[in-house]
Formats: sequence, structure tokens, C-alpha cells
Amino acid sequence: METITLTIKKQKNIALIAHDGKKAELIKWCKDNSETLKNHNLCGTGTTARMITDATGLQVRGYNSGPLGGDQQIGAKIVEGKVDFVIFFSDPLTAAPHDPDVKALMRIAQVYDIPFANNKATADFLIHSSYMDEEYDHDVINFKKNIEHRAETLL
Ligand code: PGA
Repeated sequence: METITLTIKKQKNIALIAHDGKKAELIKWCKDNSETLKNHNLCGTGTTARMITDATGLQVRGYNSGPLGGDQQIGAKIVEGKVDFVIFFSDPLTAAPHDPDVKALMRIAQVYDIPFANNKATADFLIHSSYMDEEYDHDVINFKKNIEHRAETLL
């Protein structure tokens, strides 16, 4: 599969999402890491974004609420290259109506090789990585070439 090298810039475009049972934990994590987070562009699902801004003063651009399509909006931003880092405190003990959207977001983050933390320990390791202060080159599937190849070979 042909790949293309993309760069995650020094200033990351970070999406912040927490399921209801994990919102307090994510808000505390954002407070604890606000000195780092304030140097990056932040966005999130609607309720999470609002609650983080209210609690920390960090500017977090809010998309729709998760169950109303917010996770899918963030997934689309990953595809467009406008979100390149995800902190998603999902709740493993509660069923959610938008579980397919959550899976889709995780999958698209894998496809685009995006750093993705689904719990606090992973988020801690990510935020303390030296890559937070550097550019990071990574190889992702070359989607233009992929379409050319598919169009030529699938008949
Ligand atoms: P919310 O959505 O931030 O609007 O609560 C999060 C989610 O459940 O995916």
C-alpha cells in the first residue's frame, strides 16, 4: 500500500471527549495539564467541551454532543487532517446508544495513525511525551493513490 508522510505539528489539534461517567475525570485531567493544553488547539464533543471550558478557562471548540453526532464530526476532522490527537475517556462499564460512532472514531484514528488515549494512564503518557513539543512525521495510506488503484483494479 502506498503511503504518504504527514506531519503532526508542534501545536497539536487535540479533541477531548468523555462519556458521562468519565467527565469528572477528564475535567480534572485537563485542569492538571492545563499549562500544556493551553499551547494547543482544543476541540471536543459539545457537553465535554463546555464543561472543560467552564471548569478550566481553556478554550475548547465544541462540536455537537456525542450522541447527536459529535464523535462523527471529530472523525471527519481526522479525515480532513484537522484533528491529529484524541483524548477520549470512554466508559467501559456503561452501554451507550452511540457505541457504533465511538467504534468508528477509534477506527478512523487508527487508519490515520493518530495518537489516541482511551484512559487516563495513556493520556498521561502521551501528554508527557517529548513529541508534545516537537513535530512528528508519520506515514499514512496515500488516499489519492488508493482511489486511483481501486478504480483501475476493481472492474
Ligand atoms: P458529550 O458527548 O461531550 O456531548 O457528552 C460525549 C460522548 O458521549 O461521546
